[in-house]
Amino acid sequence: MASNASSQLGNKKILITGGAGFLGSHLTERLLERGEEVLVVDNFFTGSKQNLAHLLGNPHLEVMRHDVTFPLYVEVNQIYNLACPASPVHYQHDPVQTTKTSVHGAINMLGLAKRTRARILQASTSEVYGDPEVHPQPESYWGKVNPIGIRSCYDEGKRCAETLFFDYYRQHALEIKVVRIFNTYGPRMHPNDGRVVSNFIVQALQGKDITIYGDGQQTRSFCYVDDLIAAMMSMMDAPADFIGPVNIGNPGEFTMLALAEAILKLSGSKSKLVFEPLPADDPKQRQPDIALAKAKLGWQPKVALEDGLKETIAYFRQLLAT
Ligand code: NAD
Ligand code: UDP
Ligand code: UDP
Repeated sequence: MASNASSQLGNKKILITGGAGFLGSHLTERLLERGEEVLVVDNFFTGSKQNLAHLLGNPHLEVMRHDVTFPLYVEVNQIYNLACPASPVHYQHDPVQTTKTSVHGAINMLGLAKRTRARILQASTSEVYGDPEVHPQPESYWGKVNPIGIRSCYDEGKRCAETLFFDYYRQHALEIKVVRIFNTYGPRMHPNDGRVVSNFIVQALQGKDITIYGDGQQTRSFCYVDDLIAAMMSMMDAPADFIGPVNIGNPGEFTMLALAEAILKLSGSKSKLVFEPLPADDPKQRQPDIALAKAKLGWQPKVALEDGLKETIAYFRQLLAT
């Protein structure tokens, strides 16, 4: 590990790229609670200062506007690389920038880790499995990904970032950690990011039609944000020889119809369901095999979908009221 000034004083200086986003803001909060020095770097494309507003008075937090596709010279001991738009609507808005963010961003952050000898964690994704032929998906499955479709900027960008992480590990002996995150939800999701949980909740609370894409029989497995952040931090702090990739997600698998019905019930909404075309390359099913995370990290999710949805509905109710 590095031995720069802040580590000699006892606490680590931790860089979080994409720290003003949904997951990044929760991670920032947890690390500050643990007494760490946190540097958030974000270009505010999908994240916002609002997500960090309640933390900005904390003297251990520094926030810097910066795009990770450009080099970054700072002194840190750990790097969580989260910068990348995550919802299909946002990552397809400027697909070339999405690939640059994943690939150039990874190269720059790995270069930074190489110079500072910082441990670096990559927020990878279940999208590396594409539209999977193996169910549930273990880490050993190589995936079925379209290299030229509208989701490819994200899927292939994230796959290439994993390649870079493993080559920096083999070639430069970096301390890497790769987590493959499955669909995660909770407070501070962007209300307009088009992801299914935020869409359905906002539609339900506003009395608008709930938009089911396709026949609603496709499945996803939803992990509550607190469970996800606990696993990510545990992976960062795990022994150096466990580098992943490791799946993090909640194996509970639901159809989009079942999700819509749960949200209608929990929000007391009378919204109607309407059916719209399924987007191209939309995966039919997805469920993490989390045996590796259980064995190596002693982790498994604790929050049931119903409880997590209640928290998320309460968040959006308050957000929409202001
Ligand atoms: P988000 O869009 O809320 O957060 C991404 C953050 O990255 C935002 O604050 C955004 O402004 C920032 N960003 C984007 N491009 C940047 C750039 N070039 N330079 C600097 N900052 C940039 O998304 P999220 O849900 O918090 O996702 C965080 C990470 O986790 C992403 O890497 C995503 O791919 C990964 N992930 C998330 C999920 C999920 O379900 N939420 C699932 C799998 C993987
Ligand atoms: N880099 C950075 N911060 C650093 C060190 C490197 O942003 O502190 C960037 C730099 O722009 C470089 C990239 O990381 O292009 C990869 O660095 P590496 O040392 O692996 O490669 P090289 O400098 O030899 O191209
Ligand atoms: N979806 C839907 N209605 C919406 C938004 C999404 O039926 O308003 C579907 C989408 O087609 C996909 C699933 O919900 O099958 C999850 O979509 P999301 O964009 O949240 O995540 P991803 O497809 O990246 O897993």
